[in-house]
Parts: sequence; structure tokens; C-alpha cells
Amino acid sequence: MNVLVINCGSSSLKYQLINMSDESVLAKGLVERIGIEGSVLKHEVPGMEKVIIEKDMPDHKVALSLVIDTLVDEKHGAIKDMKEISAVGHRIVHGGEKFSASVVIDDEVIKAIEDCIELAPLHNPANLMGINACKELMPGTPMVGVFDTAFHQTMPKSSYIYPLPYELYEKYGIRKYGFHGTSHRYVSQKAADFLGKKLEDLKIITCHLGNGASLAAIDGGKSIDTSMGFTPLEGLVMGTRCGDIDPAIVTFIMEKENLDIAGVNNLLNKKSGVLGISGVSSDFRDIENAAEGNERAQLALDVFNKRVKKYIGAYAAEMGGVDVIVFTAGLGENSASNREEICKGLEFMGVKVDPEKNNIRGKDAIVSTDDSKVKVLVIPTNEELMIAKDTQELLK
Ligand code: ADP
Repeated sequence: MNVLVINCGSSSLKYQLINMSDESVLAKGLVERIGIEGSVLKHEVPGMEKVIIEKDMPDHKVALSLVIDTLVDEKHGAIKDMKEISAVGHRIVHGGEKFSASVVIDDEVIKAIEDCIELAPLHNPANLMGINACKELMPGTPMVGVFDTAFHQTMPKSSYIYPLPYELYEKYGIRKYGFHGTSHRYVSQKAADFLGKKLEDLKIITCHLGNGASLAAIDGGKSIDTSMGFTPLEGLVMGTRCGDIDPAIVTFIMEKENLDIAGVNNLLNKKSGVLGISGVSSDFRDIENAAEGNERAQLALDVFNKRVKKYIGAYAAEMGGVDVIVFTAGLGENSASNREEICKGLEFMGVKVDPEKNNIRGKDAIVSTDDSKVKVLVIPTNEELMIAKDTQELLK
């Protein structure tokens, strides 16, 4: 069974065609600048040269049509006929309280995703464009929706209710939802498999540290708390997002800097985080390169690492202990120095990182010492594979 995994943004479409018999990637690619001048498709088949097609793509339907043509293209393609795509798995950002697991997409599900637009005004409309494009271009091919928020729907109310007037939760659904759920679910399962343990028996803290970053406390396979909230702005310090701050700062800077709602949203989401502190870049590689001799670049790393450490402590307390800490995503998978800094000082909890074992990047590995009570793991995330697996499972 070949599953096409699709992840649509407002002006982008990422895809992977996965052969589920051996979980191999047959082709993958990205369309950028949909609806903007200069749209381009970058397509890759393992073992072949990358193909770049520049073509006007006014909407997602045109983009998907080009993707399908390229997938079946005699020269650059990976399959002979569109019929070789058995199903499509869609990444959907927000499922609100309606979805606690992946689902087969039908009209009712589409309506429910539309109902969640208010909660994710930038993301859900783009995801729906992808679903509608598939409906039109691949009629009859079953589709599955996999939600970023679904995994965290197991959180207890005491984790997700904000200390605001309760009516705001009832009226607008203001509560913690959490994101990166597909990644947290994938790496926690993989970690248990890797250790030869049952997920049900483990208390795991997963650290998804990329440009966007979040932690999850996973007790017996269930997310019981996570650092992102009503939106992805809460929690850790990120590339350009501030994470937790005193909420009173928002109105204070609005007044001082004469910012309207869009202006302050932009400042908190796009100009803050390690970019804001360092003034160098939102990219951790740039900041690490600049850190020697640049006080603010070093400070950005220190603030970032300290916040992750604080959340690890908090989640261990919340679960009454921790057996496994997992690092994943761009920074978590690649930066040995960040992992070391984050774990430094956690020896009192039984966390001991082995500097030699930790000197790896981008592969499944245990990076703690043999006598470390808590196992520290690196597990590269693979959200596309998780989406494809859910798709296969639901269509069995
Ligand atoms: P997203 O999917 O949220 O855009 P990624 O998971 O791709 O993010 O992570 C991107 C981040 O990971 C960037 O800030 C990048 O600098 C960082 N990163 C990638 N490789 C390394 C590395 N070798 N060392 C340090 N940081 C890295």
C-alpha cells in the first residue's frame, strides 16, 4: 500500500509518498509560493537527482495536480499510475475538542475541521484546501486526517484549564490544546520500542526542539501535559516565539510601542524567542556559531536551555518521576551541546548524560550513561511516517 502524506500551509504543500510494505519513501517534495509569484515545486526520488519545476500555481489544486503529474512522470516519477496511491493522509493542525485520534475524512469530518477554523485561522483553512484539492483530483481515494492536537486530548482538566473566568472556556473554547502531538506520539512509541519496554509502563518526557518547540509529559503512553497551549505561542522559548511571559507585558508594550493587535501578535510570534534575545538569527546553528564572543547569542542559548530544564523538572514532578527523556526535532536530534546543557544539573533526578555517547546526531541512540536511572534518548521524529501508519491502520 502506498500512502501519500500531505501537509498544506497557506502557501505551501509538502508531500511524501510512502510504501507501507517496508516504510520506504518513494518520493517527497515541496511546493512553495502557491498563489504568489514565483511558485516552485522541488521533487525528490531517493537515488535520483532533485527536480525543480518553476510554474505558476495560483492555488493548492493546481499545485497538487502538478505533484501528481510529477509522481507519475516517466522520467522523474516514482509510480506509473495515480491508482498506485491507495490513500492520502493529511496533517491537520487543529482538531479542537472534537478529535482525540486520527479519522477517516468524510463530509462530517470536513465540517468539524471547518468548525475549528476559529482556533487555527492560519492553519486549518490551508489544511482544508489540501483536502478539497485531493477530493477533486483523486476522487474515490480514501483520506485520513491526523491532528496535531489529538494526542494531547488525554490531558486531565487540571492540565488544560487556564485560571481565567471559566465562561471563556465554555464560550470560546479557551483552554490548553497542545501541538506537535504526532511527533510526541511517534517518538514516545519509538523510545519504548527501542528500549524493549512497554509504553504503558513508562513515564516519558519528550522534548521536540525545532524552530517551534514543545515538551510533553507522557505517562503510560498518554499525554498528561504539554508546554504549548491555546496556540503554539506558550511554553518554551522558540526560534521567534517568546513562549511563557508575564501576560501583563502584552498590554504594556502595546501602550509603550503603540502597537495594535496585529503588531503585538507579530512581535510575540515573529520577533521574539532566541531571535529577539540574540539579535542574530532564529536559527540555532547561527546562534551557536555566534555564541563565542557574543554575549547576547550565548544568553539566548542559556535562556532557551534553562526553560527546557524547568519544564523537565515540572513534568517529572507532575508524573511523580520520569524513566525516559527523549530529544527530537532539528535541535534535539542534532545539538549535543544543547542536550548536555539541558541535562546538566539534573543528576539529582537520576539523569546522567554520557558525553561520548551524546556526541551523535540524527539517529536513534541512548545518550545517558549505563548507570543513569533515567534513560536519555535521541529519536529522530518522523511525523510523515506516523501519518501514513495511521492512514493504513484506519483503512484496514
Ligand atoms: P521546524 O520543523 O519547526 O521548522 P526543525 O525541526 O527543522 O524545525 O528544526 C530547525 C532548527 O533546528 C533550526 O533552528 C536549526 O538551526 C536547528 N538545527 C538543525 N541542525 C542543527 C545542528 N546541527 N546544530 C544545532 N541546531 C541545529
